[in-house]
Amino acid sequence: MMNEDQLWDVLIIGSGPAGLSAALYAKRANLDVLVMEKEYRGTGQITESDLVDNYLGLPNINGYDLGEAFLGHVEQLGAEFREGAVDGLEKEGGWWKVHVADGSVLRTRTVIYCAGASHRRLGVDGEAEFAGKGVSYCAVCDGAFYRGKDTAVIGGGDTALGDALYLSDLCEKVYLIHRREEFRGSASAVQQLQEKENVEILTSAVPDKIVGEQTVTALELKDGRSIPVDGAFVAVGMQPQTGLLKGIVKLDDAGYVVADETGVTSEPGFFVAGDVRTKALRQVVTAVSDGANAAVSAAEYIKRMQAS
Ligand code: NAP
Repeated sequence: MMNEDQLWDVLIIGSGPAGLSAALYAKRANLDVLVMEKEYRGTGQITESDLVDNYLGLPNINGYDLGEAFLGHVEQLGAEFREGAVDGLEKEGGWWKVHVADGSVLRTRTVIYCAGASHRRLGVDGEAEFAGKGVSYCAVCDGAFYRGKDTAVIGGGDTALGDALYLSDLCEKVYLIHRREEFRGSASAVQQLQEKENVEILTSAVPDKIVGEQTVTALELKDGRSIPVDGAFVAVGMQPQTGLLKGIVKLDDAGYVVADETGVTSEPGFFVAGDVRTKALRQVVTAVSDGANAAVSAAEYIKRMQAS
């Protein structure tokens, strides 16, 4: 049973690759570590990737399996986990009060914020109306519902390309709809898609409206074309989950927590790691690396505070 009055050394918000890596490094630095996870045994966005093929040493691994391996490693070291959504943070004296949605308040010397990012909305008519009724943000989660059917994937980044590849093995036909001519995602994935007979790539194609009756029947484009589909998978990027940090720590214009690779933020004792940090490359490997750096920064901070 967890002691609610405990003053943790490190409280990690988020249990994706960045949070788990931070937990591993903090435990190895002999610190008391609590990981707040939104879902029981959740490992973040990585579970939505059917295939992770760029994590060094583990080619062709499924995202869920990679997340389980990360989690198992941290559990072995004895980090504690608690399920719950953090809905407020305040600094009091030399530590942080962390408010959880169930009403409890936890205390910690340092916070490592690893809450990641959530799916960006496309922002067209019909998107909200048909969410869960033909509009999805996760091909790996919902793809099986579209076996033998026609779908569209919207976006031109690695997520959209990966989703289109994944769906091409399940669906009768997959349209990849991208608003520009050049893809943001990897050239090798584009080439793989070009070789698929049931994939049609439409570039300079700007979505205008998702239409249907009970469920989605078509995606309409701004140039007047109507693409008949049973499902529309929106993969147009991510938005940092930093709503609760406004006024607490410095964010950039897009809402990311401003920090370099040390994870040190504008607020002493508050560190950041993973996709939610300002950085150029958001990948599992950079999230894991961020977690390690932020934990080392937190350990140094605690040592300095104890010495002063
Ligand atoms: P992303 O790289 O930001 O790409 C978002 C895509 O959506 C872009 O092509 C963008 O078009 C398009 N888009 C944005 N708003 C749109 C709108 N309103 N209408 C139509 N299209 C819109 O996002 P992501 O693909 O989710 O990837 C996020 C990060 O995770 C990236 O760093 C990516 O490399 C990484 N990732 C890596 C892997 C992997 O390596 N296995 C897998 C998934 C994600 P424009 O190109 O015109 O801006």
